[in-house]
Amino acid sequence: MFISTRNPQDRRTYRRAIFQGLAPDGGLYVPEEWQDHTDLFRGLSPDMSFQEMAGEITAAILSREIRPEQARALAKKAFFFEPQLKALDENITLLELFHGPSCAFKDFGASFLAASMEFFLEGESEPAVILTATSGDTGSAVAQAFHNRKNIEVVILYPSGRVSPLQEKQLTTLGGNIQALEIDGSFDDCQRMVKEAFLDADLQDKLHLTSANSINLGRLLPQSFYYIFARVKTGLNSGIPFRFCVPSGNFGNLTAGLYAWKWGLPVDKFIAATNRNDVVPQYLFSGEFDPRPSVATYSNAMDVGNPSNFERMLHLFNRNWKAMRSLMSGYSVTDSETLELIGDFYRRRNHFLDPHTAVGIHAVKRFLYGRAGSREMGTNVVLSTAHAAKFTETVEKATGKKPTIPPQLQKPMEKEKKALSMGADMGELKQYLIDTYR
Ligand SMILES: *Cc1c(COP(=O)(O)O)cnc(C)c1O
Repeated sequence: MFISTRNPQDRRTYRRAIFQGLAPDGGLYVPEEWQDHTDLFRGLSPDMSFQEMAGEITAAILSREIRPEQARALAKKAFFFEPQLKALDENITLLELFHGPSCAFKDFGASFLAASMEFFLEGESEPAVILTATSGDTGSAVAQAFHNRKNIEVVILYPSGRVSPLQEKQLTTLGGNIQALEIDGSFDDCQRMVKEAFLDADLQDKLHLTSANSINLGRLLPQSFYYIFARVKTGLNSGIPFRFCVPSGNFGNLTAGLYAWKWGLPVDKFIAATNRNDVVPQYLFSGEFDPRPSVATYSNAMDVGNPSNFERMLHLFNRNWKAMRSLMSGYSVTDSETLELIGDFYRRRNHFLDPHTAVGIHAVKRFLYGRAGSREMGTNVVLSTAHAAKFTETVEKATGKKPTIPPQLQKPMEKEKKALSMGADMGELKQYLIDTYR
């Protein structure tokens, strides 16, 4: 079962937790107890595909709710793309998580959530309506993940003229069960409208409204799978120090890694890499958590001043700073360090890095080379969270060259935009939802 971080009495199944999203008390859903999955991890073979491993892990963590063969089928539907491990040198390996439909790691969480919802909605008479606002990037992972899922309708609000042309195409060219609403207003207007819709008792009554936010338990849990995958593929019992370095913003990705560790995956250290939005590294250093407004950086998907998953991290460590510090190290990387690393990498290896991955590599190098006399360099896996072509401007600034655009990003540019224009008005949104989905 799963409980709210703010109320252990709010116990729910996975199914109820994912359709709820955020707990009514504002908390986040977390596992109620920590099962030991050491035997499961030992039973995974390096020859298995990601999809196969994901099926076994899903079967174990949701064993009280779904049957093993259903779990395997769910993982199979979700993961039609794989992570890839690329060794940079004998100590540092990249775990590339950008080979999915939107070319960023969020595809893993979004796709598993979508497959989960589809699974639980089978045979229901009424479709679920997913309502979400986006300032650009997150919406495309959600749209792609839910595209053509049965019994699910998706409505995405985005601010007119304020998302990049590529992002707009990604949101507006899928069609089918994905409806884009182009709002004459700001991202804040879009968010306000979505919030108001969820608070509207009449709408709640008439439609099965639900969300797919990044804090959703159904997006968090599957992110633990690729930590397990990477550990198994690099030799589960290698006997040398093993660390993960995670470029972080809202800290969902890193929290999922901590979950894998808590289930018994052998990991010696998690390195939290941030840009100048470094409240978590600061906390690890001083014990003080001091959230503040975010500042803009080149690694903009990590521009978060008050990471929501910090609540899950505190819960996991029972608010014990020392315990968290013994497992985690934090590093903050500047924009100029990020540019320099991207440039250096390109010149020496002819390899394009995206700014988020560059932050991670910079952090792991500081960890490894900053410690005098450390003989045990060990195995260090850096999560590579996005394809360089998603951040062409920054990459070009650093290297003087444009990375090649992969086909899944190129294709939407050739399609025709289909969006419905709407004012920043809740009444209009409500009427539209009722007329269309009721
Ligand atoms: C969302 C995102 C991150 C940050 O992940 P969190 O789970 O929010 O810490 C890092 N890199 C990229 C490319 C992202 O899209």
